[in-house]
Amino acid sequence: MKLAVTTLFIGSAAAFSPAASFGVRSSALNMAETATETKAFAKLPATVKPGVVTGKALTDLLDNAKAQGYAIPGVNIVGSNSINACMEAAAKYGGPIMVTFSKGGGQFICGKSVDNKNDQASIAGTIAGAKHVHEVAKLYGVPVVLHTDHCQKAWLPWIDGLLTASEEHFAKTGEPLFSSHMLDLSEEPLEENIAICKSYLEKFAKVGILLEFELGVTGGEEDGVDNSDVDSSRLYTQPEEVYYAYEQLSQVPGGAFTCAASFGNVHGVYAPGNVDLQPIILYNSQKYIQEKLGCEDDKPMKFVFHGGSGSSVEDIQYAIGAGVVKMNIDTDTQWAFWDGVRGYEAKYHDYLQGQIGNPEGPDKPNKKYYDPRLMLRAGEEAMAARLVKAAEDLKCVNVLN
Ligand SMILES: [Zn+2]
Repeated sequence: MKLAVTTLFIGSAAAFSPAASFGVRSSALNMAETATETKAFAKLPATVKPGVVTGKALTDLLDNAKAQGYAIPGVNIVGSNSINACMEAAAKYGGPIMVTFSKGGGQFICGKSVDNKNDQASIAGTIAGAKHVHEVAKLYGVPVVLHTDHCQKAWLPWIDGLLTASEEHFAKTGEPLFSSHMLDLSEEPLEENIAICKSYLEKFAKVGILLEFELGVTGGEEDGVDNSDVDSSRLYTQPEEVYYAYEQLSQVPGGAFTCAASFGNVHGVYAPGNVDLQPIILYNSQKYIQEKLGCEDDKPMKFVFHGGSGSSVEDIQYAIGAGVVKMNIDTDTQWAFWDGVRGYEAKYHDYLQGQIGNPEGPDKPNKKYYDPRLMLRAGEEAMAARLVKAAEDLKCVNVLN
């Protein structure tokens, strides 16, 4: 089996002065808000509040993660059950969470029976999921980042649809619907990859959306994208490439970005010994950029870590030390959700074989065992428990207060 690369995301620290760039609201309103504003979370900047975090609040949150040495779990979801499990977990571990929609996950929320011509189901489902989060996130009392996952060149109409929704939301509220989008153009030549990213970042910056871009290739297979045959040299990003992207994207006024760089990371879970992680690539990239810029900051880039499932805690924490502010989690939470449902069925197996009749008697009704909420809740609880463990690995526990 050929395993590929790890992806990290970096964000532009320097380029971000969103008070100006994201400020569509009047300065008088901003001043009034500042005057009465109190911190919602003792350990976080005052901009970060419970609920969906966008714009300056998001860059402040990611800068806090980088400075404090933790990474936020970025979790793929497929509906309200997994979305709520994410927020439940975040409330339990006392940290932020990134709720992540894939194109397929968005389509699933719309409904698999709906024609996905022109990505219409993916767009509608992703927006519906985002609106669910906007409506309920505050009740969980944690910062929630609304993010979308890998979008290759052919899938850009999906992002175009989401961007339109964010622009409409921004016109009404001064905030985008989504906090950030990933564009994964790593299949394209570097110059084309970054040129397309730059053109999108120009649009994102106007409404306060952060860009996550990918350099190199994350190996393995996830959500219909199979990179398990990619040449291994593409699995390791070069510092020069990271600097090129940083330099280009920093030219966008108010632009904020993170970088998914490849350092041997792989989507999916594999037997030990099959993944050759080289997170030193991240350190080398930071050093290279710092020298080029001549800046004080020894971690100018914010990286994100794709394909972390199955990585050792040592490797994960080493990568966090190199400026990783988010790690994607999908495979492990997929298993956890199933394992919760599996455990429920095993525990109540004899009560789940018909609507009537169980070990307590042939006439006994089983309605209170086969109500779908019970099995789904078992999945939610198992997923939330797995995410608390992930947050421990990412040092994201008790980072709010
Ligand atoms: Zn990924």
